[in-house]
Amino acid sequence: MNAMEAEPMCEVCGGATRERITGRGLLRECAECGHVRRDLSLMPARREETWGGSGTGERVRVDLTYRRLRRRLRGLRIDRVLDVGCGDGALLRRFLDDGADVVGCDPGLLGRPVDERVSQLSAVHACTLDELPDSEPFDLVLAVHVVEHLPTAVPAWQSLLHRTRPGGTVYAVTPAADSGQLDAFEDAWWMLDDPTHVRFYSGDSLAQAALAAGAAAVVIRRPRDDSLMCEGMSVGNWLSDKGVSARVASTLGLLSAPVFAGRRMVNSKWSPVIEAWVTAS
Ligand SMILES: [Zn+2]
Repeated sequence: MNAMEAEPMCEVCGGATRERITGRGLLRECAECGHVRRDLSLMPARREETWGGSGTGERVRVDLTYRRLRRRLRGLRIDRVLDVGCGDGALLRRFLDDGADVVGCDPGLLGRPVDERVSQLSAVHACTLDELPDSEPFDLVLAVHVVEHLPTAVPAWQSLLHRTRPGGTVYAVTPAADSGQLDAFEDAWWMLDDPTHVRFYSGDSLAQAALAAGAAAVVIRRPRDDSLMCEGMSVGNWLSDKGVSARVASTLGLLSAPVFAGRRMVNSKWSPVIEAWVTAS
């Protein structure tokens, strides 16, 4: 950037931003709210494709997410559920089995087959949220590992809230800019491997973005049981960068996982993700 040009302002709070230097590139962090932007030309990714999620790990993640949702939303009416970035529809299937009307959208659908029962209902649309046909508002709108991929911050939250009935809930999970893991692993952090992760919310910026978009209330939490492979993969990246062979690096990464699981238990700020429970007005 030309030194005479103004530094870009934070897309959430409008505050001044500064470069956050790491080994392989740099990120831009808001000095006020801790929000982080990622420009691929300045912080390249380690792989070309986005993480689609598949296999046992993904089934475990969907199961844990569903349980968190049911626990926190106990007693609330959930008749209509929209899953933005629904992938293969596995999370929607849980709510469908509970008797809810379900709709999903995902522009890529990541090339995977959609859950058979969900797909029979023609409930899943291969489009973005803004392209989804208008319908009655939803009781629950899910954005699980989605907002870090979207082209905008506050406007994206407006779109999510627009689909939610007053008093309904938007639930988002996203990698945390203020996770201890970004400080510790820096450019080896697994969340930077995905080339479509273009922003990382802090707890502060996630709450501010939802409120700026018109939410009535926001609760930020740090679940300890999401993205369970993050530390092991990050350790593998770190060792690879030190010249350790790929196979040894990934084995050692895997072996380190239990240590980090313990660390999550004693320090929630170590969790790689944050979640937002947002009440629509
Ligand atoms: Zn900010």
